[in-house]
Amino acid sequence: MRLAERLGILAVAILGASCESAPVRGVNIPAGWFKGNTHTHTLWSDGDGAPELVSDWYSGHGYQFLVLSDHNILAEGEKWKKIGKGKGEVKPESLEALIAKFGKDAVALRGKDGAQEMRLQTLEELRARFEKPGAFIFIKGEEITDEFKKLPIHHNSLNHTGLIKPPHGESVRETLQRTIEAVEAEAKKCGKPVLVHLNHPNFGWGVSADDLAHVLGERFFEVYNGHRGVRNYGDKDHLGTEQIWDYVLALRLGKLGGPPLFCLATDDAHNYHKIQEQEVANPGRGWIFVRARELTGDAVVQAMLTGDYYASSGVVLEDVRSDAQSLGVKVAAEAGVTYRIRFNGTRPGGEPGEVLQESAGAAASYRFKGDEYYVRATVVSSRKHPNGYDKADLESAWTQPVVVRRGKP
Ligand SMILES: [Zn+2]
Ligand SMILES: [Zn+2]
Repeated sequence: MRLAERLGILAVAILGASCESAPVRGVNIPAGWFKGNTHTHTLWSDGDGAPELVSDWYSGHGYQFLVLSDHNILAEGEKWKKIGKGKGEVKPESLEALIAKFGKDAVALRGKDGAQEMRLQTLEELRARFEKPGAFIFIKGEEITDEFKKLPIHHNSLNHTGLIKPPHGESVRETLQRTIEAVEAEAKKCGKPVLVHLNHPNFGWGVSADDLAHVLGERFFEVYNGHRGVRNYGDKDHLGTEQIWDYVLALRLGKLGGPPLFCLATDDAHNYHKIQEQEVANPGRGWIFVRARELTGDAVVQAMLTGDYYASSGVVLEDVRSDAQSLGVKVAAEAGVTYRIRFNGTRPGGEPGEVLQESAGAAASYRFKGDEYYVRATVVSSRKHPNGYDKADLESAWTQPVVVRRGKP
């Protein structure tokens, strides 16, 4: 083939590719389920996106609720950020992008001490601008960012009113416990359903499986966090988050007499100016679907507290249902995608999280034998995540564990 012909074919191929839109997701979210992300950063702490840019991304990408969870701060009061190239400053190109998107009048600027500053929009302003009843809401929250001897201990608190300060402790477990108590105190004060989830236990190897198992007030944790630095899959010396989950469930239900641990998938997004695989912490990597009676912060958090939700990195479920006999999962299947459904659980004397049943297809049900402490389901699709935590991630969904029986403490 002559070069010109080859170039001609190439040009057609490129043209064809550019005309094609992004792959259309073939399913709608079933009625009664709401999609949301509970872990997001903005310029209020170390995210690189203005709060309105972040809100615009999520409200425009099929999410119904969003928690702006900045480090030890609520998006309240007057806060100005310097424009510049330094750490923690708003990059000039980010400001340009913001003005290009929303117009000059939508960005508040001032000169101070010879520098230019930008005012950050508050949650109240964002609510007025982006919230639509039944379609999109914010749930107030923060990332309570603590540490013990350089070990990071981060929790997200959702749906409270006042700022919760990192309480510090004399050990990892005490820090975990004191954070839970601080959130409980705030919940009592504001009189609303409030939830706290442990973030990225493997980040900095901060929280071990044993720590998490023994602090019984920890009822929620991130099994999938989209930030590239959090080590979801562990390493040769550390369990991955899914193994941590089974270890905690086995210990609590088999021995310690504690509650089950529920999971979340989140973005922990920090980078908004380029949405691509190379970025450390983009939006769109992990989220939850909550079955709530209405789209309000109270209703969403109340449903989560009862475990009526699941985590996802791309798979949508039509239904997940359990009773005294079984746990069943039905995928809202997409054309051209295949699914495997796996049931994990732990039995007395068995390995934590052993595979109890696995099958191909978009629906499966597991009948309890009666000796399992718990059973949970994971759906793994054949489709690669377009921009996941790991380049090899396949789109998945994780249901909450169902307690079948408890061991003797
Ligand atoms: Zn964190
Ligand atoms: Zn974070």
